[in-house]
Amino acid sequence: MEQTGKIIYLDNAATTPVSGPVLDAMLPYFSQHYGNPSSVYGIARQSKEALDAARTQVAAALNCLPEEVFFTGCGSESDNWAVKGIAHKLAAQGKRHLITTSIEHHAILHSMAELEKEGFEVTYLPVDADGLVSPDQVRAAIRPDTALVSVMYANNEIGTVEPVAEIGAVCREAGVLFHTDAVQAAGTLKINVQAQKIDALSLSAHKFNGPKGVGALYLKKGLRLPNLIDGGGQENGRRAGTENVAGIVGLGKALELANAQLAEKAVHLEKLRDYVIRTVRQSIPNVKLNGHPTRRLPGNVNLSFEGIEGEGMLLLLDMKGVCASSGSACTSGSLDPSHVLLAIGLPHEIAHGSLRLTFGPQNTMEDAQAACSALQEIIPRLRAMSPVWDKIEKGEAKPLLG
Ligand code: PLP
Repeated sequence: MEQTGKIIYLDNAATTPVSGPVLDAMLPYFSQHYGNPSSVYGIARQSKEALDAARTQVAAALNCLPEEVFFTGCGSESDNWAVKGIAHKLAAQGKRHLITTSIEHHAILHSMAELEKEGFEVTYLPVDADGLVSPDQVRAAIRPDTALVSVMYANNEIGTVEPVAEIGAVCREAGVLFHTDAVQAAGTLKINVQAQKIDALSLSAHKFNGPKGVGALYLKKGLRLPNLIDGGGQENGRRAGTENVAGIVGLGKALELANAQLAEKAVHLEKLRDYVIRTVRQSIPNVKLNGHPTRRLPGNVNLSFEGIEGEGMLLLLDMKGVCASSGSACTSGSLDPSHVLLAIGLPHEIAHGSLRLTFGPQNTMEDAQAACSALQEIIPRLRAMSPVWDKIEKGEAKPLLG
């Protein structure tokens, strides 16, 4: 059954709406300033200047040089380029070992898997029960033939924020390149590639109220990777193809706006996040918060409910207009629990009953309250139909979440 009322969009880790000022900045570049930035006449120069301005905006947000910023088609592309590019470049020096974590996005994990097929060796670091990677474990895993360490800035499912500066320091000291997937962090957390000793960083506009289909990769000066796309001279000859000018303008504007409001944004998101965590824990039994209790993205709530199947929960939430995400990925007909939830040690049945609610600046306290009311109605309803919950209630099975 389709829901018909108001949409309560709580899936901002999946994507975000383009904000009004960002859309306004982009619009002229569709049909007014439509020149190809590589051409020489006036309207082309306007496009070229817009690209330059966006590159400067991104550089200001990351504390790097504009020439260290390369625009791409998405966060996944930035991740692929960084990981495969660095691996292929350093393989020539005999460095064929890579280090990453078990909770990365598939853009990293699948890139690593491809490199393994080519003969690279990959160490997948475990995380603790809160999803944290330890800098000491990174240090211990580094070998003389290590080319790259890639650890995400913040996890997209459980929201845990990794000790990026500490890991950057470990890598710099060991002379190993450090890449971070900052797709969930950019526009929400402060980034400083100099202070944090980051050599390569991926971001994506649609996660911070910018448009879809445009990302960026920061590459430290002097780190010249193999070209991603061969062709024209765009992106300093490294990624050919006429630029997505409107998209890039949107990315630059959205990142500039988000960065100017990081503190206010965090306060607002944390208020909504903490309200939901508190209210659900107080009113619904046998529930667990996934991810670090404090080192977490300000808008991320990830909860596991005992005796619940995530997909059923999402369908009932959808009927109430609440857009959320669960801890399962529907792959090849089977519902596999998320690799992140398994990596923090959740049993399969608990991982299956997980829910991610992620807030954005456009959300209100009413949205948070509506989500809580919906869960207070839906969880008992689903539990009443659950054979697992029935056994727990009859004392025939022990609950896993107290
Ligand atoms: N990395 C992380 C941590 C993400 O959350 C995502 C998207 O969800 C990506 C990479 C991929 O970004 P894009 O959708 O722009 O390809």
